[in-house]
Amino acid sequence: MPSPKYVLNLVLFSIAAYAAVKATTFGWHFRRGSFQGRPARSPEIQDELEKHVARLAGEIGARDIYRNNPGLKAAQDYIAAELKSYGYKVEFQDYPAAGTTARNITGVKTGTVTPEESIVLGAHYDTCANPGADDNASGVAAMLSLARLTAKTPAARTLKFVAFTNEEPPFFRTEDMGSLVWARAAAARKEKIKAVIVLEMIGYYSEQPRSQKYPPLLGPFNPNKGNFIAQISNFKSRALARSIDAEFKKNSGLPIVTLALPSIIPGVDFSDHKSFWVAGYPAVMFTDTAFYRNANYHRGTDMPETLNYEYMAELIEGLRAALLAQAGQGR
Ligand SMILES: [Zn+2]
Repeated sequence: MPSPKYVLNLVLFSIAAYAAVKATTFGWHFRRGSFQGRPARSPEIQDELEKHVARLAGEIGARDIYRNNPGLKAAQDYIAAELKSYGYKVEFQDYPAAGTTARNITGVKTGTVTPEESIVLGAHYDTCANPGADDNASGVAAMLSLARLTAKTPAARTLKFVAFTNEEPPFFRTEDMGSLVWARAAAARKEKIKAVIVLEMIGYYSEQPRSQKYPPLLGPFNPNKGNFIAQISNFKSRALARSIDAEFKKNSGLPIVTLALPSIIPGVDFSDHKSFWVAGYPAVMFTDTAFYRNANYHRGTDMPETLNYEYMAELIEGLRAALLAQAGQGR
């Protein structure tokens, strides 16, 4: 005899499966396959991404506030210096955590038409006591690359590129999670954030059949090769997800699967986008689906050489267009 909770879960999973079908029947089938074999479109971006990941996950390595604080500090210095070198105003948000000081880093470019409105693109830079190439040097590398590429483009709204700290355990889902501190402070000063894009593990791809796993019930409706990027939103943020999806597809050869899902599905709210949902802002997460695809998740084997920089560069092309569309034409 199923318990009421079991029935509720079943209903929600069915809704999720339906949403998945709806979301994927549109874009996915036109984009099936990969761009493998084509000449690299953005060798310069590939090199840049590889350089950032090599620095963070290769040279610096583990970076967390307890056991690997020097690594965390080295990562902060690197990220801040990069943002500054592209011309951004760099802001530090320091707050007490774990008996020391935790730090979020934000690069700001003021909008030229409606500067009071902002678009946020963020990624966490701490690791789970491992090198963290995919989790999440990949997200930070993409954030830096997008910051550099959009630095000289006038945009109507203010652009903020953020490196969050304390995303990983033991801070995950606590008051000391960097993104939650950042989002709450923004809400407290009534900042008008129009869109938030969180990058959480975006570097691992595979063309092998059955290289992609899924939460219960989603599998039959989705591709079994882990060669795509997933955009995850909740129902409240689905209009944002839809418009990003459309812009992404016009500008990138990387397949994208956009899903609006209830957070009851394991993994849906497993990152910094959740902090913005809590603070009342529309937010989406871009991810290679983490442990549903990458066996190196939270292990010592999450190394720079396991990432695919060609696919990552193609992701950048789509994200750059989506980001600038959200920011609006500047002058
Ligand atoms: Zn992570």
